[in-house]
Amino acid sequence: MEMYYQKETETMDRSALKNLQSERLVRQVKHVWDNVAYYRQKMEEKKLTPDDIKGVEDLYKLPFLTKDDLRETYPFGMFAVPLSECVRIQSTSGTTGKRVVSGYTQGDIDLWEECCARAITAAGGTKDDVCQVCYGYGLFTGGPGLNGGSHKVGCLTLPMSSGNTDRQLQFMVDLGSTILCCTPSYAAYLAESIHERGLRDKIRLKAGIFGAEAWSDEMRRNIERDLGIKAYNIYGLTEMCGPGVAYECSEQAGMHICEDQYLAEIVDPVTLEPLPYGSKGELVFTSLTRKASPLLRYRTKDICILDDTPCSCGRTHIRMSRPMGRSDDMMVIKGVNVFPSQIETVLLEQGYPANYQIIVDRLENTDSIEIRVEIPADAFNGSLATVTEMEKQLTQAMKAMLGIYAKIRLVAPRSIERSEGKAVRVIDRRKI
Ligand SMILES: [Zn+2]
Repeated sequence: MEMYYQKETETMDRSALKNLQSERLVRQVKHVWDNVAYYRQKMEEKKLTPDDIKGVEDLYKLPFLTKDDLRETYPFGMFAVPLSECVRIQSTSGTTGKRVVSGYTQGDIDLWEECCARAITAAGGTKDDVCQVCYGYGLFTGGPGLNGGSHKVGCLTLPMSSGNTDRQLQFMVDLGSTILCCTPSYAAYLAESIHERGLRDKIRLKAGIFGAEAWSDEMRRNIERDLGIKAYNIYGLTEMCGPGVAYECSEQAGMHICEDQYLAEIVDPVTLEPLPYGSKGELVFTSLTRKASPLLRYRTKDICILDDTPCSCGRTHIRMSRPMGRSDDMMVIKGVNVFPSQIETVLLEQGYPANYQIIVDRLENTDSIEIRVEIPADAFNGSLATVTEMEKQLTQAMKAMLGIYAKIRLVAPRSIERSEGKAVRVIDRRKI
């Protein structure tokens, strides 16, 4: 039987949900206009006042925000309440420049933790569970978010934080953890360690809630098999409180967005025009309830698809696919959006190594794409017929993923130059 943390909200009739969103959007725009000078100026530049926003149908009129805006207004320029109303700061890792800080009132934290509680409940969590949280605690939102959600559900919460695998496994066994929250790569590592130490019969895990990094369905299947659990995806970003913005239900077919709190849009990453549900584009969020750091039309740079078809779990909130890439990395080839991550997925699925190069060119006004990939050492038998057949199969798989023809060129093992730093995967000759 499907369980909900806030059934009324999670299964709300869509027209009632739209009314709720409209009401909250109107209030939020007014709140931002009154309290965030930086955004008010952006609205004024577009000759907008709060009166122009009467409901979700007017959302498209509002200006976008990006990480650059948050860096420009660092640290408190986007805050909409006095600091005396804030009770916490969380921050992004700052791996790509200046950190972004995000402020929370107590109310913001409660709403955030409710989203995480929905995710834990959707994964089958109840007050009888033992929830081991091994996301990092601290400025990173992973640990605090799931910790708070676990408290709300009433699970016995183990605030492990990341690392120290010996202790993680000892507690997992001794305290009988049933739900594991961490990054998918750490889950895979824990699974390996459990196998090596012969602990498989001693663990009682039933579910895992994994996020904060990209992972494939193949990785999901492996983790589920190795740990004997059902593995659920969770999505979030510090700019929208943290994890729990979207989460998977028992169907494991896309993540339900907490639409009563977050208004989601898909836009064309080049023209920024809103696109209908079902289209692939950049995910944009508007925070409908956040008081301290309320962001309107924040561009996540994540590329995904929104799905508004009904889900058999009974939740009415739309689902987002897992992010397929970053709009920063997107190439437009023959008018089609192509991401290096899609190409890598196909290569790995077909048993090729992640040593490849993508060469994009334009001849006589027509774009072309060529993918050079090393033949796996154990598949190389020197036969030309084998190579031709492998190229043919890979071409078909690539066409199915990308929707356009890409020329495949298999090259000898270890012939693609290795890089010490970040590998150069894409050579776009159209730009040279
Ligand atoms: Zn569902």
